[in-house]
Amino acid sequence: MTDTDVLTRPAVLILLGPPGAGKGTQARKLETHYGFVQLSTGDLLRAAVAAGTAAGLAAKAVMEAGGLVSDEIVIAILRDRLAEPDCAKGVILDGFPRTSVQAEALDALLAETGQRINAAISLEVDDAAMVARVAGRYTCAGCGEGYHDDFKKPRVSGTCDVCGKSEMSRRPDDTAETVASRLEAYHAQTAPLISYYAQKNVLQRLDAMGDINEIGTEMRRLVDGATA
Ligand code: ADP
Ligand code: ADP
Ligand code: ZN
Repeated sequence: MTDTDVLTRPAVLILLGPPGAGKGTQARKLETHYGFVQLSTGDLLRAAVAAGTAAGLAAKAVMEAGGLVSDEIVIAILRDRLAEPDCAKGVILDGFPRTSVQAEALDALLAETGQRINAAISLEVDDAAMVARVAGRYTCAGCGEGYHDDFKKPRVSGTCDVCGKSEMSRRPDDTAETVASRLEAYHAQTAPLISYYAQKNVLQRLDAMGDINEIGTEMRRLVDGATA
C-alpha cells in the first residue's frame, strides 16, 4: 500500500452502546460534520422488514421480541451496504458489530479492502437513563431526525426542525418489556466488545449521560484525533 492509499483510506468509526445511549443521535451529527455515512443496522433491518425481503421476514419477530437478529443476516446486509459508493469517504457504524462473530467478520471485511478501524467509541449510560431515553423516543417519518418527549423536543411541537414535516413515528420495540430483553442482549453479547476493541487499541470511552451537544463536541474531539 502506498502513502496515498493510507491518506485516502475511508475512515471507519464504530459507535458502541446500549439501546438509547445516543448512538443514532450522535451518528447523525458526525455525518453532518464530517460527510461520513451513518450505517445503522437497525435502520437497514427495519427497511428490510418494511420491504418484505427474505432477511426482513426472518428478522421481524426477533426484533419485536428484543433479541439479536442472526449474525449471518446482519453481516450480509452490512457487507452489501459497505460496498456502496457513498461509503468512500468514511462510515459511522451505528449498532454494528453487536457480537464477537460480527466484530471478527468486520475485521475480515476491512482487511479485504485494506481498511482499518479508526475508533470504537463506547457511549456509556446507566440502565435507568437508557430506559427513560428509549421510552420517550420518536422519529420524524420524513427525514429520520430523532426526538424525545422530554429531552429533545422540536422547536414547534409535532413539527420536525430539520425537514418541517409533521408525521412522527415510534418504534414498536421501544416498549418497557422489549427494552429489558434488549438490555440483556447488550450486556451478554455486545458489552464484551469493549474489551475486544481495547485490546486493538482503538477504544474510546465516553460518558454519555450529559447534554447532547456537549457529547457531540467531545465526539468530534475524539474523531479528529482518530482520523488525523
Ligand atoms: P440509540 O441510537 O443509541 O438507541 P438514540 O440516539 O436514538 O439512541 O437516542 C435515544 C433517545 O434519547 C432519543 O429520543 C434521543 O433524542 C434521546 N437522547 C439522545 N442522546 C441524549 C442525551 N445525551 N440526553 C438526553 N436524551 C438523549
Ligand atoms: P437501538 O439503537 O435502540 O439498540 P437498533 O435500531 O440499533 O436499536 O436495533 C433495533 C433491533 O435491530 C435490535 O434490537 C436487534 O433486534 C436488531 N439489530 C440491529 N443491529 C443488529 C446487529 N448488529 N446484530 C443483531 N441484531 C441487530
Ligand atoms: Zn424531519
